[in-house]
Amino acid sequence: METTYHIGLGYNDTKTRKKAEQDYISFWEEQAKSLHWFEKWNKVLEWNPPFAKWFLGGKINASYNALDVTVAKNPDKKAILWEGEKGETRTLTYQELLQYVCRFANALKSLGVKKGDRVTIYLPMIPELIISMLACARIGAIHTVIFSGFSAQSIRDRVDDSKSKVIITADGGFRKGTVVKLKEIIDQAIKDFDFVENVIIFEHANIQVSYTKKDKKWQDLIKNKSSLCEAEKLESVHPLYILYTSGTTGKPKGVLHGTGGYLIHLYSTFKWVFDIKDSDIYFCTADIGWVTGHSYVVYGPLLHGATQIMYEGAPDYPTPARMWKIIEKYKATIFYTTPTALRMLMKYGDDLPNSNNLSSLRLLGTVGEPINPEVWRWYYKTIGKERCPIVDTWWQTETGGVMISPVPGLETIPLKPGSATRPIPGVLVSVVDENGKDLPAGTKGYLVIKQPWPGMLLTLWGDDEKYKAVYWSKYKTMYYPGDYAIKDTDDYFSMLGRADDVLKVAGHRLGTAELESGFVSHKSVAEAAVCGIPHDVKGESIIAFLVLKEGFAQTPQLKDEIIAHIRQAIGPIATPDQLHFVSKLPKTRSGKIMRRLLKAIAKDEQIGDISTLEDEASVDEVRSALSELRQTIQKNKIK
Ligand code: ATP
Ligand code: MG
Repeated sequence: METTYHIGLGYNDTKTRKKAEQDYISFWEEQAKSLHWFEKWNKVLEWNPPFAKWFLGGKINASYNALDVTVAKNPDKKAILWEGEKGETRTLTYQELLQYVCRFANALKSLGVKKGDRVTIYLPMIPELIISMLACARIGAIHTVIFSGFSAQSIRDRVDDSKSKVIITADGGFRKGTVVKLKEIIDQAIKDFDFVENVIIFEHANIQVSYTKKDKKWQDLIKNKSSLCEAEKLESVHPLYILYTSGTTGKPKGVLHGTGGYLIHLYSTFKWVFDIKDSDIYFCTADIGWVTGHSYVVYGPLLHGATQIMYEGAPDYPTPARMWKIIEKYKATIFYTTPTALRMLMKYGDDLPNSNNLSSLRLLGTVGEPINPEVWRWYYKTIGKERCPIVDTWWQTETGGVMISPVPGLETIPLKPGSATRPIPGVLVSVVDENGKDLPAGTKGYLVIKQPWPGMLLTLWGDDEKYKAVYWSKYKTMYYPGDYAIKDTDDYFSMLGRADDVLKVAGHRLGTAELESGFVSHKSVAEAAVCGIPHDVKGESIIAFLVLKEGFAQTPQLKDEIIAHIRQAIGPIATPDQLHFVSKLPKTRSGKIMRRLLKAIAKDEQIGDISTLEDEASVDEVRSALSELRQTIQKNKIK
């Protein structure tokens, strides 16, 4: 295994974990006391497999816990330090945020929005996005946020599925120096949808938009609205939101989350994983359109009265130093991002981060994909200057909050690059074989979750059968996340990639992450994606697609060197049958590599209409990546 890194924050709590192991139900009950409840629950968990109801009978409100609780103690505490792409700024205190949320909640009420109604939110990364979500939560409406990069068709499918009564959008948003015309896209998306009663438009980009009878201008709507709005006392299991998954493996699923259990999962993990303190300046780069934004931009930080940076725009605009400049300017203490972003930033070398002052940082995090050990070490050394623990957090839209991760806010354990380490207290995971039998340390298998947890999804929106089929049919009594993993002798978990993408080469099973990390550990490789195609003798042969770092040329010598390197790093079994240099890889809008598209191309299969998968901008990107891949494969065949 990897070298370990002994770095922590000085905590050494052994009791919490022990209590959780003894009785996870009363453990979570204890945690739930940290939130404000209007009425106490009468049952901690009703487990009617595979449906879990947490804190049954309890009455709670997410926006009350996110705002009023801090306002009562420290109204002037800064909640949001917002920065636009052009460098403009806004600051909102908890008091201001609460008043704004109340006014907007009253505006929603004036349009007839009631408890249980669905509201679609299609906004750029501006404070109004958070305000819209909390206003919905305040009155018990179910928010469904759609990433503001999605196209009309993707929105149409989602709005149709959730049957939203109201849509909240903006005239436009900024991305890489251009304006994305959001209102225009919404007009197209909801054409002939009679169930959509109103569209609210926040004027942000100052561009001309046409208003129809349904359309209401945000700024007009909140005029004269009271800044008081009592929070609805909602059942703990009342749905807080629907969120569609990233769509890496196919059509996105409408994940439905509840309130009480979800919030306590976030409250606890934000404390244990990020060790949040009153003085922290937290910066999470995730768009709120993804679950990381819901859980660790909106609810987690606000439940703790934290101060955070919110940035609208591209991470590499106007230069790839933008993230480092933001950290320096606001003196960020905690930075949470994705392996994809890190690989992109790493590609440009160390000069950019080194020429900015990153000394305010004390904790680093990553989420979304397995982090290659090479990238982990760069993050640790170049960004964290060997001072900051890294929390590699494994979780999913469905789990609501972090499930496997170091918890430096609770205990100090050695960190290993590429490992998410151990499950958080109160969560039970394991690696099992096809039949659901626990595998010994060192054997690869399927990750499972063995007992309900508070952040667990309620179901898939309007489709209990699909919920059962997707997560509870491979193993009847255990939740199946669909990831391939391995546990080591220290009981540390490492993710090896998606179970569906596992390669079977000459009797060996290889996770995509193992192979990709092998390639990325070569000094010239910035990004790697692998897939397997059928092979008569070996079962499957390995096809690798590599993006090189700045300053490396695609030569046959380099190819040979990389092949020698992977044989050395993993073994001759890992020798790719084809190795292609490309300039980009097809990715989802959340930045994850779409390996199934690579596989289809490598097998020379028709891909069909990719526009249903992704938004237009990204479809163009994916299409050009794919056509480059096709040409490269052809060219390499002829040689
Ligand atoms: P879909 O379910 O529609 O295919 P998705 O799974 O990409 O989309 P998310 O819920 O955003 O949508 O992503 C969760 C997945 O991301 C996990 O199942 C896992 O495969 C991967 N993942 C997240 N965090 C980590 C991590 N720290 N290490 C390894 N993999 C991770
Ligand atoms: Mg998934």
